[in-house]
Amino acid sequence: MKILTSPGAMRAWTREQVVLGNKTALVPTMGFFHEGHLSLMRMAAQYADTLVVSLFVNPIQFGPNEDLDRYPRSFTKDCELAEGEGVEVLFAPEAGDMYPPGFQTTVSVEHLSRSLCGADRPGHFNGVTTVVSKLFHIVQPDCAVFGQKDFQQLSIIRRMVQDLDIGVDILAHPIVREPDGLAMSSRNAYLDADQRKSALSLSKGIALARSLYTDGKLDTAVLTEKVKKHILSYSGTEVNYISFIDCSSLEPVDRADQETLVALAVTIDGRVRLIDNGLLAGTG
Ligand code: AMP
Repeated sequence: MKILTSPGAMRAWTREQVVLGNKTALVPTMGFFHEGHLSLMRMAAQYADTLVVSLFVNPIQFGPNEDLDRYPRSFTKDCELAEGEGVEVLFAPEAGDMYPPGFQTTVSVEHLSRSLCGADRPGHFNGVTTVVSKLFHIVQPDCAVFGQKDFQQLSIIRRMVQDLDIGVDILAHPIVREPDGLAMSSRNAYLDADQRKSALSLSKGIALARSLYTDGKLDTAVLTEKVKKHILSYSGTEVNYISFIDCSSLEPVDRADQETLVALAVTIDGRVRLIDNGLLAGTG
């Protein structure tokens, strides 16, 4: 596996692949790999001849009081895991290479970036769309895989690709969970044993919403109250948001139907913010 750090070297590598007639898939990540990341890599490998994984903890998607400095990192282990998945290039640029002095251009998907995590984390999605469009320009992949765990991010990237005529196919991977239901996340590494128990409140809250929906409870105001009460019954939980939204438009809905997705963000002990989501009519 090649480890490339400069955008120029990365672009030169892709040019060679184009000449060789190879299709390239990209999986953008912030590292500290878990089974969720590895599943995305396996999926991406099926859609292309060569696989590039980017590893970049993108400073501009973190707010001033967020966890950029303590975000978990483990470069050597990540390299081993990526190599084990047949990754051909790990693209791991430095922040200074991505955002040199004078950098001032950003990409913004206006409306979709405002709600849910965007309301909670102002500027977050502009950071995401800016770095993903840079990665698309540098790596020039034929396709890229994103996880449904970050459902809003996936919708925003799809919108960006459509709006800006970026010729990259966007593929979605379902949420990968621990055996007890917790959605895998690099941030789970922050959790101590008690907080790990409270972290289950998210997937249990989604399960509750699903069972109420199956029982014919469709009023989302009622569903929201019940899910909120359930989540708050776990120690140290604070609900950032619980939203019942249409899975295409991401607009809130008053009455649930089979297109309705419940999306939530919960902070545990004021320190660890986790997100999860699921279709009410789904299982994953
Ligand atoms: P991250 O390193 O957290 O920025 O995630 C990199 C990619 O992996 C994103 O497309 C995420 O949506 C995806 N991802 C992270 N955790 C999971 C998970 N548990 N299941 C599916 N995809 C995930």
